[in-house]
Amino acid sequence: MKKLSLALGIACPVACKGCYFAFPFDQLRESGFENKLISHKEVSKFIRYLVINHGLEKVTLCGGDPLSHPDMHYILEALKALPVKVSLDTVGTNLLKDAEMIFPVKMQSKYINVSYLKDYIDILGIPLDGSTQELCATFRVGRKDLFKETLDVLKKANAVDIPVSINTVVHKQNIDDLNNVLDILLSYHNIFRMQLFQFTPIGQMAFSNWNHFMISDDEFWGKISELRDTYGHRVLLDPKSNEMRINEYFMVDCFGRMYVPEIFGVEKGEAVKSDLQVLGNIKEETLYPEMLSKFKALKDA
Ligand code: SF4
Repeated sequence: MKKLSLALGIACPVACKGCYFAFPFDQLRESGFENKLISHKEVSKFIRYLVINHGLEKVTLCGGDPLSHPDMHYILEALKALPVKVSLDTVGTNLLKDAEMIFPVKMQSKYINVSYLKDYIDILGIPLDGSTQELCATFRVGRKDLFKETLDVLKKANAVDIPVSINTVVHKQNIDDLNNVLDILLSYHNIFRMQLFQFTPIGQMAFSNWNHFMISDDEFWGKISELRDTYGHRVLLDPKSNEMRINEYFMVDCFGRMYVPEIFGVEKGEAVKSDLQVLGNIKEETLYPEMLSKFKALKDA
């Protein structure tokens, strides 16, 4: 296993209508949940185990906004001490000012200087799904100036020369706008990649709104081919279709729960999805081998 996603965010500064992330809603509603969050020591122990026993090379901090985790400074310091590349996916609001997290819990989250981040991460992942505020807001809601804020974050990252990967969800509302998004992005010299995720309706919000966003495999790959013809020589376009992601990765959430995301399908015109598969909790060090065997069995099935 070369790559791992740690979905350690507690909350987000946006509340996407198509949020595909399995926030641990019930635990986040309990009072005193902050005391049960995964600690930097527990994260470090698990990553060290994967490096030694499974050849782990890269960790992506994601899922919710990782900068909402109160111990993110310590987690970044712990990861820096390990031989792994670190990518951090954030909406970016904290890189501009103290940020209010709004979904699924409300909380304040501190400003982080982008120059500080540069010392700890190899790649900064920023979402951008539209070339105007209106188009961004078809998917990401809750920040009336999100588009402008995202461009401000990109300017800051450009100024300190952090390699940036753009994360774009490709859905029914923005598929015809992606050329415009790329035209904007190409003016930033530090953007080396655009990851294009086919919309997948597996989180609570995304599942409820699937019909509003869903595109077919043919529509997805047709658009990728068109974008590659026009922009492929100028930036790395990295498509992630739904098919490519089924049982291919597991996530670890802010309470340490390790799970494989649900699988979505349409049967007789109705949306259906499987349950997510909980493999265990990384707070239980003695269970690492068992949890990883369960994942391998799912992947090989
Ligand atoms: S899809 Fe939106 S709300 Fe959901 S985790 Fe990502 S940025 Fe946050």
